[in-house]
Parts: sequence; structure tokens; C-alpha cells
Amino acid sequence: EQTIDKIAAGEVIERPASIVKELVENAIDAGANAVTVEIKDGGISLIRITDNGSGIEAKQVPVAFWRHATSKIRKADDLLDVTSLGFRGEALSSIAAVCQVELITKTADSLTGVRYLIEGGKEKSLEEIGAPDGTTFLVRNIFYNTPARKKFLKTAQTEAGYISDMVERIALSHPEVSFKFIANNQTKLHTSGNHQLKDIIYHIYGRDIAANLIEISAGTDSVRINGFIGKPVISRGNRNYENYFVNGRYIRSNIIAKAIEDAYHTFMMKHKYPFTVLNFTIDGKLLDVNVHPAKLELRFAENEEMYRIVYEAVRNALTHREM
Ligand code: ADP
Ligand code: MG
Repeated sequence: EQTIDKIAAGEVIERPASIVKELVENAIDAGANAVTVEIKDGGISLIRITDNGSGIEAKQVPVAFWRHATSKIRKADDLLDVTSLGFRGEALSSIAAVCQVELITKTADSLTGVRYLIEGGKEKSLEEIGAPDGTTFLVRNIFYNTPARKKFLKTAQTEAGYISDMVERIALSHPEVSFKFIANNQTKLHTSGNHQLKDIIYHIYGRDIAANLIEISAGTDSVRINGFIGKPVISRGNRNYENYFVNGRYIRSNIIAKAIEDAYHTFMMKHKYPFTVLNFTIDGKLLDVNVHPAKLELRFAENEEMYRIVYEAVRNALTHREM
């Protein structure tokens, strides 16, 4: 079983940023409205993630580290449901297989919390402990028992950059959650959780961008589009500033990108690309669930309809913009 976990870990856990992604998504799934991510050495020696979510019941703690023992979605059709980011039940087992993990957790209706240690898939201890409501994960020494994989990590600075990008994306797709990101004792990002996407854009991208946004709130019953597109004055020479999220997940989609860019290019030169932060809420029936959800590329059941809805939403927003 430990070997299988190690192999499964290869698919889920590529680098420290993968751990941050899985643990922060779990915190959001647990209903947290405040999440703190703290790292040392680009997350290679330490990742600490604290949330104020539901916590895990004492007797469920070891179970949470079993592979496929998810408390969440089971059916393939539900994979892209809007309500939950987790679905495979293999994040915790994969992380524990290749790291030293300490978990402190407490639910609101239990008097004491639990402290659990698991390293390389082996349980070390489980004890009662006083703790605030919610969950803290400390993940130390990624790949300490798989040196061949550790060699593929980049420098601490580069790994920290990947984590920072990851936290920023999650913050942009969850304006209702307050995120704090601390790297080597320095606070790099702190969002308020006040639902104001524009504030988060300001924190991440600065004033010039935040001051030149056009709001988009459009779509149909099955495809809602909310967010911002940059005015042509802040267009870019590359696609790095195109962010879009479908049902809370950061994704790439040629259809969405093409629709946005085509609409944008009716106002703007061809070699320029827009700044966007767009959150799509799409009915699961319109999504192609055959695409592996861990991958970023998403396909749609009705490509042409998706293209048209997005194109028109962006076109309308740009037509009615205040310049
Ligand atoms: P999944 O998210 O796919 O269910 P994971 O391996 O990521 O699988 O997590 C296993 C289980 O552990 C979750 O289903 C959830 O019940 C519990 N869990 C993990 N992290 C948290 C957290 N931060 N707060 C509350 N419960 C959690
Ligand atoms: Mg999960």
C-alpha cells in the first residue's frame, strides 16, 4: 500500500506548489473563510497551512489519509460540480507518502483537538491536544524519501514563485476567502475575503491594472461570466495575464481564450492580449468530464455555443466601456 501511495503521489505531487494547491483546496472545501499559507525555502523544507474550516473529527483523521477515502464526490458525473474542489481522495495519502506530515485539527463540537504525525505513509502518533477550531497542516521535507524526485525540484526561489502564482490564482477565484501568504517570514499577499475581486487584483497586480478594468457580468442560465477585463491601454504582449476559472478551478481553454481574444481584437491590435480575471460558472452538463480534472485544459460539450456566449459577453463589455 505504501508503494502504491508513492506511485500515486507521483501523479498528484510534482512539487511544493502541488501540495499547496491540494491543501488550500481542501481548506476551501471545508468551508474556511480564512486560510494562511506559510513556506520556508520555497516550501521544500516547510509548508504550513492553517484554516478556520470544519476541522476533522478525531476518528476520521487516519481515514483521511487512506487513498480514495474521500468524504466528497464519488460519481464521475460530479467531477466538475461547482460545490467541491476535491474529488479523488488521494491528495493526503500522496502528500503523506513523500513528506513528513503533522496535522492539528479540531471540530467546533469537540472539546479537544487531535495531533497526528505521519511520515512516508507510516503513522507515527495520534494524540489529544488543545487546538483552535479548524485545521493546520505542517508538511516538511518534500521527497525526503525519494531523492531521485527531489533532484527535479528547482531552486527555493523558483519553487516559491510557483507557490506564489498558485496562491494568487486561488485567491482570484475565491474573493470570499481571506488568504495570507507568508514566505520566509515575510507577508507577500493578504486578501480581505470581502468578496471584492477588484481589491484582490489591486493587491496582486497593482494600481495601474486595477484602475483600468471593465467589469463583466453576463452570460446565460447555464454559463455565468463574472469578473474583469483590462481596457486596451493595459493590454500585454503575451497571454500571461489571461486568467480564467471554471467552477472555482484555474483552467486553460482554447475556446475561451480564442473567444476573448477575438472580441478584444475587434478593438485592439492583433499582437496584443488582454488582462483578464474571469470566473465562469458553468453547468456541469456542458463540460466534457472525460478530461482528467487534474489537468488544466478543459473541453466543452458545445464548443460553438461556448465561444458565442463568451465572445458576446466580452464584446458587449468593451462596447459599453467608459474610456
Ligand atoms: P478529497 O479532497 O479528494 O476528498 P483529500 O485526500 O484531499 O481528498 O482529503 C481527504 C479528506 O480529508 C477530505 O475528504 C476531508 O474529509 C478531509 N480533509 C482534508 N483536509 C481538510 C481540511 N483542511 N479541513 C477539513 N477536512 C479536511
Ligand atoms: Mg482534496
